[in-house]
Amino acid sequence: MYCPFCSNEDSRVIDSRDSDDSIRRRRECLTCGLRFTTYERIQTRALLVVKRDGRREEFNRDKLWLSLKNACAKRPLPIGSIEKAIDEIESQLVSIGRAEIPSRAIGELVMERLRNLDRVAYIRFASVYRDFRDIESFKEEVDALLEPKKEETSSQLSFLKDEELTPVGRRKRGRKPKNPTGQI
Ligand SMILES: [Zn+2]
Repeated sequence: MYCPFCSNEDSRVIDSRDSDDSIRRRRECLTCGLRFTTYERIQTRALLVVKRDGRREEFNRDKLWLSLKNACAKRPLPIGSIEKAIDEIESQLVSIGRAEIPSRAIGELVMERLRNLDRVAYIRFASVYRDFRDIESFKEEVDALLEPKKEETSSQLSFLKDEELTPVGRRKRGRKPKNPTGQI
């Protein structure tokens, strides 16, 4: 269970009570001392994620959290918004009520949320996640992202393309961002 404020993993439970289909826990982060609430679902059977190659693995909230955190790195998002998005995605998955869910469906749920949350995070996630079949819709998203900057000079536009379209995974570590404020 990661702290939504500082991302540290260690917290202590200060209050715990049952609510409907989950256990509500009030936690205090051992690193930053801030408090947050978690709703931990009581699952009688694990939700299995069917990957593209057909293999199945247990749904892992932390893994989902990491991929969202990477996509949202250095973006000016309100505190706790990643946690909130994951909570919503998790409840949606539970409400579907199936034992198995394709990884693609989870990816779509993530993109749906990132799209509303932050365009740059959305493009980052989509560029890593989506395959070539979606290249047209991907291009549309990129065009939409660049749209408000139409009045800028073409040199600025080409720099934006370089910066924003580099898939997160391919970025060099420690590379100084050309656009530290993330404003586009
Ligand atoms: Zn913390």
